[in-house]
Amino acid sequence: MVGDAGAIAPVPRDLIERAPKVLLHDHLDGGLRPQTIIELADEVGYQDLPAGDAPSLAAWFEQAAGSGSLERYLETFRHTVGVTQTADALFRVANECAQDLAADGVCYAEIRYAPELHVERGLHLPEIVEAVLAGFGAGERAALTAGRRIRIGVLLTAMRTAMHSRTIAELSVQYRDRGVVGFDIAGAEAGFPPTRHLDAFEFLRRENAHFTIHAGEGFGLPSIWEAIQWCGADRLGHGVRIVDDISTAADSSPVLGRLAAYVRDRRIPLEMCPTSNVQTGAARSIAEHPIGLLRRLGFRVTVNTDNRLMSGTSMTREMELLSEAFGYGLDDLQWFTLNAMKSAFIPFDERLAIINEQIKPGYAALKAVLADRLLGRE
Ligand SMILES: [Zn+2]
Repeated sequence: MVGDAGAIAPVPRDLIERAPKVLLHDHLDGGLRPQTIIELADEVGYQDLPAGDAPSLAAWFEQAAGSGSLERYLETFRHTVGVTQTADALFRVANECAQDLAADGVCYAEIRYAPELHVERGLHLPEIVEAVLAGFGAGERAALTAGRRIRIGVLLTAMRTAMHSRTIAELSVQYRDRGVVGFDIAGAEAGFPPTRHLDAFEFLRRENAHFTIHAGEGFGLPSIWEAIQWCGADRLGHGVRIVDDISTAADSSPVLGRLAAYVRDRRIPLEMCPTSNVQTGAARSIAEHPIGLLRRLGFRVTVNTDNRLMSGTSMTREMELLSEAFGYGLDDLQWFTLNAMKSAFIPFDERLAIINEQIKPGYAALKAVLADRLLGRE
């Protein structure tokens, strides 16, 4: 049927747009609308923007982020973080984020950001968390009014290059019944192994809390191994370098090393972000992205946007690119989506409800539309 062979792929873009999508890896400060950045800069007197109108600013972000280095990529955040140092600004960008994702057909998203980056103008950490939660709540309600149902869970990120991880981990537990669903560490990977933050991860495990770790993006297998075996990560942010532990036998069949086998056997979710990975050099192209091999081998792969502004992308776009590159059909896109929903940090019964009430009926309807088109009935 459908699969890598892709008898009926690629899936038409309008169907991907309508498909219920699940997003686990998306940075709040990586998804601002260009026009909003300009307006916020104006309001707070931020002078450093590299362009003065929305189209040029959007182009600048994509160009700077596409330079091929993770460090340069991370530099672009100076501007998005620079204009979000007030509660109003945080509320606004969270509100817009929820609405933008809902308009893209996302039904569940976990959005992450680092509270410690928003204290430059004197905001306290709880004020930051509350402003963002309120913004998401407003965005969810506005989306519903527009006929789109979306739920947002928040992940609080600690910067791996700093030493605030324990405080941020405690903050995520403090707000876990009010919309924060997990914790993450992010930032330059080389030289900053996850074990530097072991204290935070041990605290979270004692609290029965969930976390993911950016690992195996700018750095290889040791980072993934530490994230899983020392820190106990529930999921891996990117994890693309797990392919370094997969070799090829004489008969050209893939051979999994012990770490790769462990990741697959334990169904550890990989939060893959194809366009972002190409921009940072973690993958050479979409067609050569390890997602193709990992999907064939049955790893628990999920598809994500990472930074919609820097990558000029959306969930629809990422799925469209994969469908074009690998011939994925609706069954494959549904498989990625179910993988993501099963791997979400909200409670099991709530995940099941979204799967049964939104994802499965949504895909069933789209498959019927596609079948009608192929038979010329539409
Ligand atoms: Zn990321």
